[in-house]
Parts: sequence; structure tokens; C-alpha cells
Amino acid sequence: LASRAFHPEDSVIMVGDLAIGGEKIHVMAGPCAVESREQLLEAARQVKAAGATILRGGAYKPRTSPYSFQGLEEEGLKLLAEARELTGLKVVTEVMDVRTLPLVAEYADILQIGARNMQNFFLLREVARVDKPVLLKRGLSCTIEEWLMAAEYIMSGGNHRVILCERGIRTFENYTRNTLDLTAVPVVKYLSHLPVVVDPSHGIGKWRFVPTMARAAVAAGADGLLIEVHPNPAEALCDGPQSLTPENFAHMMKELRGVARAV
Ligand code: PEP
Ligand code: MN
Repeated sequence: LASRAFHPEDSVIMVGDLAIGGEKIHVMAGPCAVESREQLLEAARQVKAAGATILRGGAYKPRTSPYSFQGLEEEGLKLLAEARELTGLKVVTEVMDVRTLPLVAEYADILQIGARNMQNFFLLREVARVDKPVLLKRGLSCTIEEWLMAAEYIMSGGNHRVILCERGIRTFENYTRNTLDLTAVPVVKYLSHLPVVVDPSHGIGKWRFVPTMARAAVAAGADGLLIEVHPNPAEALCDGPQSLTPENFAHMMKELRGVARAV
């Protein structure tokens, strides 16, 4: 079902009135984690002003250490809903397990499946039964074939609204957090009709290189971007080193207009 042989035309996935995979490049931006009302509303206001159409923010965080900040959970979801009310931005947020899926689905416009859950087949089967678009991140060590098969789980379960997200893969290189595999963009577009979004923030892990690779992603044919933006990255509870300040984000958006069909 994910294959281009099955569906020769590019798929356009509607998120309310936004068309992902259409003429416009959609930028999903916001903090890694929802930390507080002030932090989220400030980030939302700033990314909206710079031209983002979708607000990101995790209420449930898949952290490497159990002692790290794990997210505000339902309170975070409520803050995302408040930010949507105030700005008109759509909301993408991660769902980590089947237990919290009904709650997350109540608040999210797009359900994010994180890299660590890309092959959680029970979770994929469950999001297949929800009437919401799904942002499916590529697993840390997953091939393109495995990633498309994960999409197939969601689609064969009845949910055809899958957006793929390249977020970097594990390689021997360790100057960057991951290796952003931009080759995946044209390859996936050749193999599949699904829209592809690129997340250079997690792909690189260092904010300084994010705008350049965002431009490269769009030049490679990405339909959208996922960018971490924090009002004060130095104080972020999660992923500060890869987060752009609102000023840097606005500058990135301006530069993108030179490359993109429309941002
Ligand atoms: C995130 O988007 O904050 C996240 C945890 O991403 P990934 O699953 O790609 O690591
Ligand atoms: Mn993050």
C-alpha cells in the first residue's frame, strides 16, 4: 500500500486544511518537550510568526535515562491544545504506547511515532485504527525497507494517512548525534507515494548545522521539515544543544524561501 507501484501519484495528506505533500513545504516547529505554559506559548507564538504551520512538542518523552525529564504527560497535551487555540497552529506530538494512545489522540492533530517505536508493531497496529494522520519517524538503525514496512503496518490496518520522517541514523560518525540520511528522500519518493518530512535537529544534534541541512532537505525534495525551537535553548530540559532560538529559526525560514517552492 505504501508502494509507488500501488499508487503512482504522490499522496497528499490533509491535516485539517493543511495539505502535506502538496505545493507548500510545511514546517513543524517547537520545543522538544513541553516544559511549561510560558515556554510553550512563547515558542508557539514565535514559530507561527516565522511561518511554521504545525507546532511540535512532546508531552511523553522517550528518554535514554529514566532520571531525565519524562514529560508533563496530560498537562502537556492540554498546553498544546491551548497553544493551538491561541495560534491556529496544528499540533504534532509523540505517542509512546498503546495505553496512552486514546488520550494523545484526543489532543493531537498528527500522532508522532518516535524512532525508538518505529518497529513497535502493536503500537503501529493500534494507530492504524485511529482517524488521525501519523508522522512515522525512521528507526535509529532501520533500513528504508524496514521503514516502509512499518508504514505498511499502519496502512494495512486501515489508516492511509502516513507521513514519513527521516531523522538520522546511527553510523560510526560521532561528531554529529546521528547521520542525516538525505539520500532517503529521493529513494523513498521513488519507492513510495507517501510524503517525506526531514528532521535535521535530531539528525545532526547541533543547532549550528540545522539551517543548512534544512535547506538541503528541501532541495532534495522533502515535503516538510521538523525543527526544534526553544525560547531559551540553554535552559531546555531536553535537546537544548540542537534547538534553534526563535531568532535563528526566523532567519532559517527566510533563507528557505530561496530554495523552497513555497514555505
Ligand atoms: C523527538 O521528536 O523529540 C524525538 C524524540 O525524536 P526521535 O524519535 O526521532 O528521536
Ligand atoms: Mn527532541
